[in-house]
Amino acid sequence: MHEATPVNPWVALAYLIAGVCFILALRGLSSPESSRRGNRFGMIGMTLAVVTTLVTHVPSLNVFPTPGVPAYDTSTLDWAVLGEILAAVAIGGAIGFVIARKIAMTAMPQLVAAFHSLVGMAAVLVAAAAYQNPDAFHIVDAAGQIFAVSRVEMGLGIAIGAITFSGSVIAFLKLNGNMSGKPIMLPLRHFINLGTLAAILGLIGYFVTDQSPWVFWTVTALSFLIGFLLIIPIGGADMPVVVSMLNSYSGWAAAAMGFTLSNTAMIITGALVGSSGAILSYIMCRAMNRSFISVIAGGFGAEAAITGGGAATDRPWKRGSAEDAAFLMKQAESVIIVPGYGMAVAQAQHALREMGDILKEEGVKVKYAIHPVAGRMPGHMNVLLAEASVPYDEVFELEDINSEFAQCDVAFVIGANDVTNPAAKTDKTSPIYGMPVLDVEKAKTVLFVKRSMGGVGYAGVDNEVFYMDNTMMLLADAKKMVEDIVKSL
Ligand code: NDP
Repeated sequence: MHEATPVNPWVALAYLIAGVCFILALRGLSSPESSRRGNRFGMIGMTLAVVTTLVTHVPSLNVFPTPGVPAYDTSTLDWAVLGEILAAVAIGGAIGFVIARKIAMTAMPQLVAAFHSLVGMAAVLVAAAAYQNPDAFHIVDAAGQIFAVSRVEMGLGIAIGAITFSGSVIAFLKLNGNMSGKPIMLPLRHFINLGTLAAILGLIGYFVTDQSPWVFWTVTALSFLIGFLLIIPIGGADMPVVVSMLNSYSGWAAAAMGFTLSNTAMIITGALVGSSGAILSYIMCRAMNRSFISVIAGGFGAEAAITGGGAATDRPWKRGSAEDAAFLMKQAESVIIVPGYGMAVAQAQHALREMGDILKEEGVKVKYAIHPVAGRMPGHMNVLLAEASVPYDEVFELEDINSEFAQCDVAFVIGANDVTNPAAKTDKTSPIYGMPVLDVEKAKTVLFVKRSMGGVGYAGVDNEVFYMDNTMMLLADAKKMVEDIVKSL
């Protein structure tokens, strides 16, 4: 074990405050009402952490002077290097700003995947820099050998970082449509994957006794490979869970590198990202009724493609118009709106809010029912409805509203499909069997907005609700249909 670096109390305090800000940020982000405040806490915490790290590494700035304790352990930055870092921050910040402004909400999952790949690569580069130049990182003993504990941190950092990088790149390509969303099943894949993982862990163990470059670089290469191998068999429908899982990995990679750099802020942040990502993956798996292991083992998309078979359009169904829908809803006492992925694609949320407002003026009780995996990322619908200024007290989670469908007059399903499919409750062969769903079929009338009878949801399965006697299909683009309903109202 290497000696503990004396910690400057002011630096420790600044990092502690940053850590508290990150915890408040996560807390704020748990509800749409407080999410702006949460984001602000995150920005304040990150600014504090970055500024503290930078100023304490420039000796001539001599900030936080404390007798007997250096400002920080590796105060080796000069003004020129600081200038380079600030230039890099400015360029990166500008690119991030432009991308964030331009990105469509529906493309958010692939953007998150792309950004995670950068976190993974950063961990790999830090570990490689520490390995190449351990003196600068103060991780060598008198004999010039890297401390054993630092080798373990480095090995784990590089392995998790490389897996995060190549896994996120594949997740990005699949979500962005550059690569087929279908699972790619290699023969003997479980055998190959487990063998590669065992080799990586074995080599990290061996690295403690032998710090030769071949060990370090073999761990790196195998980790890039396993990230690729782990993600290609996973189907498109499970990809958002994978993105959240990679988010968790990137956190653990950062935490491992925080130990190498003796940076408490990085350890705290990494642990927060790592654990929140793991919890989110768990919640998503539960909402989709998928076990975490089965997601990682892959193959969901293939299953859906085989058993789903798309929509059967030869069965009888009823078509309605915007006028019919307006008439039915105006007569209703209560309407529950169920938004899904199609509402996001059509950007129908503003028109939908307008429709809800008019109905309320007519004395109709209007509520919105949100399924935890409606859309393509957690909170997708909440964000869009908040953007359209739908009051928070009209928006309900599945468990709080599901019992109300039986008493409501109209369930207005707009661009949602899988999350309303009763096959999840009844058909054991369905790929979504066991997923909790919104009981829209229990409403007196179901109005179902989608573009065509042939279009299926993410899981690729037909929906019994289309053919029910109390269902009226409103076939059109979601935004256009709602605008027409608003006109009729
Ligand atoms: P679905 O993907 O099941 O269905 C979307 C529906 O929207 C389709 O019926 C489609 O039919 C319709 N649609 C598409 N574009 C338009 C448009 N412009 N106007 C009107 N309708 C449109 O969405 P859900 O939200 O119900 O379900 C989400 C699915 O995604 C679930 O299977 C879930 O497991 C999965 N998923 C969600 C994640 C999350 O975190 N939220 C994560 C991972 C997976 P048509 O083409 O005929 O218009």
